[in-house]
Amino acid sequence: MASIFSKIVAGEIPSYKIAESDKYYAFLDINPLAAGHTLVIPKQEVDYFYDLDDDMLSGMIIFAKEIAQKMKAVTGCKKVATVVLGLEVAHAHIHLIPMNNESDVDFRREKLKLTPEEFQEIASKLKL
Ligand code: 5GP
Repeated sequence: MASIFSKIVAGEIPSYKIAESDKYYAFLDINPLAAGHTLVIPKQEVDYFYDLDDDMLSGMIIFAKEIAQKMKAVTGCKKVATVVLGLEVAHAHIHLIPMNNESDVDFRREKLKLTPEEFQEIASKLKL
């Protein structure tokens, strides 16, 4: 069965898209730690990040780089945290999170509740 993220790539589940290429897709995390929290995924459905082959792995970081650069410029954060973590969705993903303090990237923190309009506004600013 396709992962929830593959369904997002296929458009079967809606998402706030930030960027797309033939191999990768980026969209806003629906339970963000900070406004702009984005997930970068390979379209190829692989569970574990380090099971991606070298080309896919390095390409994913390069794909994420442009998103992170724009995220930093748009949000004015000090740095963009790049985190590979989590066991919930069995489809490799990188979390990109605007960061001003290390505590901004504490996944135990309560997530933001944003309205569809707020998600849409953030997505339109971050979109490549
Ligand atoms: P993890 O595997 O990193 O623990 O969790 C997966 C991440 O994907 C979580 O941060 C969660 O909020 C996000 N997520 C799970 N399902 C969806 C979804 O349907 N849409 C979006 N945009 N994000 C999701």
